[in-house]
Amino acid sequence: MKVVTQLYHSDKSSTVAFYSHKRVICVNLLSSRAIQKVDMFGSVVVGIGTAGFVRIRDMLAPLPSSAAEKLSVKGFISRRTLEEQQGVKQITIEDALRRDDIKVAFVCTENAVHEENIRTFLEAGKHVCVEYPMAMTYKTAVDLWDLAQEKGVVLHEEHIELLTADFKQLKKDIAGKKLEEGSLHFTGGPLKPGFGFPAFSGIARLTWLVDLFGELSVTAASMEEDQENKYMKMTTQLMTKEQKPLTWIEERGPGLPRVKNINFRFDSCTMTQLPPAAREPVGLFMQDLVLFSQKLLGQVPRDQLHAERHRVLHCLELADRIQQLSQQGQGSAQDA
Ligand code: NAD
Repeated sequence: MKVVTQLYHSDKSSTVAFYSHKRVICVNLLSSRAIQKVDMFGSVVVGIGTAGFVRIRDMLAPLPSSAAEKLSVKGFISRRTLEEQQGVKQITIEDALRRDDIKVAFVCTENAVHEENIRTFLEAGKHVCVEYPMAMTYKTAVDLWDLAQEKGVVLHEEHIELLTADFKQLKKDIAGKKLEEGSLHFTGGPLKPGFGFPAFSGIARLTWLVDLFGELSVTAASMEEDQENKYMKMTTQLMTKEQKPLTWIEERGPGLPRVKNINFRFDSCTMTQLPPAAREPVGLFMQDLVLFSQKLLGQVPRDQLHAERHRVLHCLELADRIQQLSQQGQGSAQDA
């Protein structure tokens, strides 16, 4: 019998391999730090609405051979007492915070309680993935991000709107064109309570504009509201760094279709419709799950993380300003 023993070392693992004529046995002797790196990230989903359901579904069937395979759902938390969801059991928040096998929380509640949930899990040293918007003020978001940094954990804000096929196509189509002026008018049905001021609940539209045209400033904002008829319309005037005006309208009411209307005038052409784009094979929440998992595994470059944090905070700062101006009722930034 011939036995070959091979030892090699890296800063991540030590592997011992015993070779014999007929079989190969490999034993990985990993440092505890490395074990944490390759181990599964046990997760809990907080809030079982549309987003919470999808998070559980995607963790139960992650994209094969992707970083998302490193997540495993251990339970869900709800303020209601619920039966098993997709075979996953309800657990208490105290349990989730105490358990060492739970390292990640997905915050999928209505927006008004994001802050409280994120803070609780970060304080306990858990990584957090929150559905947008992270918080209802800019300052809160900065605090939460600082807390995540202090605790050495990942805080990720989901932005599936940047992953849609039509947005990716739009971004390609406008590359190299110079904007003269533009508008984005979103319409949709009324929101349930707890989703907050429209500049925050509609942060996905603002994120589109910032991702397409760079940093913006708010020049005016106003809000029309008819609570009895569940109708609202927020109108915001924005300005690009090149001093080109953009209008963002967020309008919601019964019977309004969920649509984004664009009108972007460039130096060379005008776009009034989103470009047609074939649906991608990987779902939007799954794409986001893969990105979040890559962050957990330390696979996302630092400059990408910085740029993302910068964009998220910039959008929340704009949302704050829009809310202030709308609620002051004076509309114009110059008057403030
Ligand atoms: P949803 O209304 O379907 O779910 C919200 C969850 O909170 C539900 O489980 C609801 O029952 C629960 N909840 C609210 N108030 C409660 C209370 N008082 N007691 C017990 N449970 C309560 O909303 P959603 O669409 O899943 O949105 C959740 C988050 O995801 C929001 O932050 C939203 O902005 C974000 N998001 C959703 C989508 C989407 O496609 N649905 C996309 C992007 C971001």
